[in-house]
Amino acid sequence: MLTGNIQRDEFGELCFAGQNVRSLAEEYGTPLYLMDADRIRFNCRLYRKAFQESFGENALPLYASKAASFRQICRIMAEEGLGIDTVSRGEIYTALSAGFPAEKIYFHGDGKTDEDIRYAVSARIGFFIVDNETELECLQAEAAAQGVRQKVLLRITPGIDPHTYEAVNTGKVDVKFGVPIAEGLGLRFVKKALAMDVIEVAGLHCHVGSMVFDEMVFEDTVDHMVSFMKELHNTLGFVTQELNLGGGYGVRYLESDKTIDIPARIKALAEHIRQRISEAGLSMPYILMEPGRSIVADAGMTVYTVSTVKHLTGLKNYVIIDGGMADNPRYCLYQAPYTALPVSCEEGSKEVFDLVGRCCESGDIIQPEVKLPANIKRGDLVAVCTTGAYNYSMASNYNRLGRPPVVMLQGGEHFVAVRRETLEDLCALDV
Ligand SMILES: *Cc1c(COP(=O)(O)O)cnc(C)c1O
Repeated sequence: MLTGNIQRDEFGELCFAGQNVRSLAEEYGTPLYLMDADRIRFNCRLYRKAFQESFGENALPLYASKAASFRQICRIMAEEGLGIDTVSRGEIYTALSAGFPAEKIYFHGDGKTDEDIRYAVSARIGFFIVDNETELECLQAEAAAQGVRQKVLLRITPGIDPHTYEAVNTGKVDVKFGVPIAEGLGLRFVKKALAMDVIEVAGLHCHVGSMVFDEMVFEDTVDHMVSFMKELHNTLGFVTQELNLGGGYGVRYLESDKTIDIPARIKALAEHIRQRISEAGLSMPYILMEPGRSIVADAGMTVYTVSTVKHLTGLKNYVIIDGGMADNPRYCLYQAPYTALPVSCEEGSKEVFDLVGRCCESGDIIQPEVKLPANIKRGDLVAVCTTGAYNYSMASNYNRLGRPPVVMLQGGEHFVAVRRETLEDLCALDV
């Protein structure tokens, strides 16, 4: 099976986290997001342990909460001892209202508003990850007004191509995020930050992309960042205390995708960092990384009921389901691959179908050309795997569809972490 938490029982029925998917669908209805909390915790511990073994106490993994942000996930992150990375007041509020410690919240974003800055400073979050010089000026003014000394990391674009999809490529020199090292822009940015009296520059941040599989991407990033750290040290006397290397490890969406051995990668990366830091004559900074997808993706599965099967003889076959781009826009956005499985027994002949949604767009495709039972029919259940990251968090109410609930599976039990949106919810903001 694609991930360790997917099995079939003796009747060929699909099980997720050891629980029967059909029974869960009957109890909670479809479309349904399932989240395997034990798997999320397992992934958190994988990072914590790898960090501890590779860096000792001098490092912290942060969960990039944009991958899936709701209170129950934030509680898990608090319990597992990770930090949280946020990109909006909404994500900060979600974390704080779940009891997540403010000092372990990092605030990202290339377009923070005055209101965002005011809110985050007054919430006393740990760190701003400052994207640009305008933000620096606004943050200085706001922190001064509130009498707060604000710790920050400065987002730097190292100029790396991580060879991933264009839409999630954030390392190249001319992307919209951060300030490039190139053209002396990075140096000017740091200098400006150091001149601000209520801003405390703890270090640097970079994030080169998502769905990164290539071995050397983080190593290349480190090379660029360490040489920049050396330049800062030599020209400004600035010591980078914290170095955040961003997120981005890829996960398996298809059987043909590679499995990344994250602990082994982190261990190799740590060796590389130590070597480069020592060659540069610097002292080892506190290391942060921001995994999102690799913590929650394989903890997720979405379950749908088939509404219609269309055989356009000689042309195409469609399986149309009761969800679609409103609960999973990722194929529409960047042709993201997915594995779809029938929930009941997989025996018998197969046919190729486009698995499509119920929204009024021809582009409402979950996945083209998936193999499903030839006799699939209305009422049958289909599961789409590896939907834990960027599915619930990207869901919309397009066509006024209510967003599905998130049901958490933990230790053989199940409970609602986010309830299903009702018709009243859909009109709750309307006057
Ligand atoms: C999206 C993002 C992450 C998380 O990326 P994953 O691929 O989900 O691990 C981390 N840091 C920043 C700045 C991001 O934009």
